Amino acid sequence: MGAGKILFSSDIDDPVAWGAAVRALRPDLEVVDWRAAAEPEAFEFALLWKPPPGGLGPYRNLKAIQSLGAGINQLDLSTLPPGLPLARLIDPHLTETMVDYAVTAVYRHFRGFDRFERQGRERRWAHEEPPTKADFPVGVMGLGVLGGAVAQRIRALGFPVTGWSRSRHPIDGIEVFAGREELPAFLASARGFVCVLALTEHTAGILNRETMGAMRPGSCIINMGRGGHLVEGDLAALVRAGHIAGATLDVLSQEPVPADHPFYDLPEILVTPHVAGGIAPRSAAPIVIENFDRAMAGTPLLNLVDPARGY
Ligand code: NAP
Repeated sequence: MGAGKILFSSDIDDPVAWGAAVRALRPDLEVVDWRAAAEPEAFEFALLWKPPPGGLGPYRNLKAIQSLGAGINQLDLSTLPPGLPLARLIDPHLTETMVDYAVTAVYRHFRGFDRFERQGRERRWAHEEPPTKADFPVGVMGLGVLGGAVAQRIRALGFPVTGWSRSRHPIDGIEVFAGREELPAFLASARGFVCVLALTEHTAGILNRETMGAMRPGSCIINMGRGGHLVEGDLAALVRAGHIAGATLDVLSQEPVPADHPFYDLPEILVTPHVAGGIAPRSAAPIVIENFDRAMAGTPLLNLVDPARGY
């Protein structure tokens, strides 16, 4: 019963595009938007950004949930049916777009384009010699699926790269640090910091007055994890004090960012509207189908979330 139907629920993703991408690979699978789902018991697999407004209670035959996001912070885990496997979505397009964003932001700060843009507006010409990559080590916070790819690409471009995560991840050519006890050494190791951490109770507010204050003067912050990683007032204060030279922020504590947000008045800070990474139905459909088949076969899903760990 219902083996060929996928329940779809999202206010930001297109059910038609997802239906077409899945059907192109598996004509026997139908993606059904929750608004058109007349028989909740017919569904054994859900593909969702957020559950339908009434929750998942009526869908009592679900065997697994596939998140439409790489993170699961949009979901209140306590409201999901207990014990149901939950997978996050990692697709090659997402990884590539995240890596592109990180590389663009690193170069923007490294080559001083942020300063040149400001000087140009002020009609100022201030020649300077190009910097050397050896003087601009990049520290990647979070060495998971996305952070690992970011660290390796930036290394391949010739920057010295360091990385920090909860557990130790040896990566060729990258100096890695692990756990809170090695955080101070990591903070001293770089000048450009790229945050791609999971957001948990342990990483919320990790970019704060103390940690950013411990970075070398002139450091730059690139946040493409979640807005909750950054204490925004602390960054504004450290930028005004001249300790942090600049920031590129794709994720903010409140999105959309209110028009009167102080970051819009600080030329050193570039805010982008949560555009770093995108999931594309066509490249992600094979992963969703694989997880559908795994759920039906009762085997472990790909990219399974550990509820105890929170990511
Ligand atoms: P992931 O594979 O789960 O990796 C998360 C990383 O965070 C891991 O390296 C993990 O360490 C580390 N971490 C977790 N708790 C930690 C702690 N207490 N101390 C130190 N490190 C800790 O996640 P991902 O798929 O790479 O995604 C990373 C982030 O990108 C998420 O926040 C996601 O929401 C965000 N994201 C943003 C966009 C965007 O458009 N801006 C798009 C997609 C995703 P271990 O490896 O030791 O477990």
